[in-house]
Amino acid sequence: MSVTTNLQVAKEALQKIWGYPDFRPLQAETIETIQKGKDSLTVLPTGGGKSLCYQIPAAIMEGTAIIVSPLISLMEDQVNSLQLLGVPAAYVNSSLSGGEVRQIKAQFFRGNLKMLYVSPERLLLDHFIEELQQVNISFFAIDEAHCISQWGHDFRPEYTKLKQLHQRFPNVGVHAFTATAPPNVQKEISNELNLQEPEVFIGSYHRPNLFYRAIRRNSFKTQLVNVLKQFQKSDMGIVYCLTRKETEEIASHLNGVGYRALPYHAGLSQEVRKRNQDLFSQEQVKVIVATVAFGMGIDQSNVRFVIHNGMPRTLSHYQQEAGRAGRDGLAAHCILVFAPKDIQFWKRMIDNEGVLVEQRSRQLQDMINYATQLKCRHRSLIEYFGQDFERNSCGACDVCLGEVESIKDSRTYSRMILSATLKVKQNFGAGYIAQVLTGSTDQKILRNGHDQLSVHGLLKKHSKTQVHDWINQVESQGYLARHGDPYPVLKVTQAGYWLLVPQKYDKKEDELPVFLVETRRE
Ligand code: ADP
Ligand code: ZN
Repeated sequence: MSVTTNLQVAKEALQKIWGYPDFRPLQAETIETIQKGKDSLTVLPTGGGKSLCYQIPAAIMEGTAIIVSPLISLMEDQVNSLQLLGVPAAYVNSSLSGGEVRQIKAQFFRGNLKMLYVSPERLLLDHFIEELQQVNISFFAIDEAHCISQWGHDFRPEYTKLKQLHQRFPNVGVHAFTATAPPNVQKEISNELNLQEPEVFIGSYHRPNLFYRAIRRNSFKTQLVNVLKQFQKSDMGIVYCLTRKETEEIASHLNGVGYRALPYHAGLSQEVRKRNQDLFSQEQVKVIVATVAFGMGIDQSNVRFVIHNGMPRTLSHYQQEAGRAGRDGLAAHCILVFAPKDIQFWKRMIDNEGVLVEQRSRQLQDMINYATQLKCRHRSLIEYFGQDFERNSCGACDVCLGEVESIKDSRTYSRMILSATLKVKQNFGAGYIAQVLTGSTDQKILRNGHDQLSVHGLLKKHSKTQVHDWINQVESQGYLARHGDPYPVLKVTQAGYWLLVPQKYDKKEDELPVFLVETRRE
């Protein structure tokens, strides 16, 4: 008599029901843990195959698995494809009528479902929890589990109540899944869900076929068109913008210069959004210009470039959005075009929201560091997710390819900039300070007597545009900060004082990193 292991049964299901020959990395491990009834946390990049990790054990274990998911459209998609495969599954969410819910519940109570998808708010309605007690539950799977973490990039208060699950169902396994969770978020998920000695599986975030670049914005439209020239007209790509208005503007600009591009944002009607997305998936339109709203359920594998006009709000967002490039494993390019204005944009947003300010500011800082530090960008992303990057050079980012070299006078020039900011009494913006440093004798400078300052003309060998950009770079690295709207003035930050007079603060001369790079004219 042959002994069939649980994993063999799972593999058979993979092949017979789904028609795939083999597991992807960590799927087998996660499935085995679920079958054993132990808790788990699985972090796999988008496209890594998280759904199968719970669908397979759900299909073969006794009882019904409860899948908690916040996204109605994703629930519907998954349930539809499960039904096509012959796996009995259903969902309950706010889109269903009372009658439909009753019908599904009837199936559920009869034990006829292998999977029931529910939204977190629905699950935690009191009578629903009571009802679950009457059914044989195989396990709970919590999708998008980072939503439970205040340190995550998409905190949803309704998730915090999922804590109760383990108290109410002490003998049922709870399994968390997410695509993006740096180590502090992983810890919080585990604590908040009360996971009991969970097995933790973290997938690889290394995407060797992606080329990462971060360049400073001077004129996005010009820069974009220059970048696009390096691609074939038939190459598919996504351009992300921070605002709806920008997506419209950039899309129409591209159309004006001979690219077929369409906008995508939450302000467009459902119909237009669907049409634009369809035209893109059918490759009738090669470039989509979108806000973060674009991406859910995009399965386009041959995206050759993802260009960001502006920093996303967190590095998790960046990783997810940029990660839509090159799913087919072929070379693809991720280019972040950023400026200090983006930082200002997010800081204002964080202040206006007024909640989780500390966490959100920290997340923003990780994003700023990624963009402004001269550190291998593959390494930055991998370390952000708590993994080690063993290689010295990735050969696939602007830093490692030697495209961005810090100028050797970075420290000196940065100090001149800080010093000039103080000399004009922290009352002026970057443009004005650049004028002073390049020795302008503009009326305004003369009137203020700033031509008499010791810093006047210190950088006169360089263009005003270049110096202005260096001031922006110093700001991006946190040594200067903008105050006031709509005419912001620059002030020196605490870190800026340290950089300027390290001895006074017990710092070593070169303790703080500062990089200035030449402005590229593309
Ligand atoms: P995630 O939720 O992690 O973003 P999905 O679960 O949506 O990823 O899976 C992405 C795609 O990969 C889906 O089309 C899925 O059917 C496919 N897939 C998952 N596991 C495997 C596998 N072992 N072999 C082949 N394809 C797989
Ligand atoms: Zn690198």
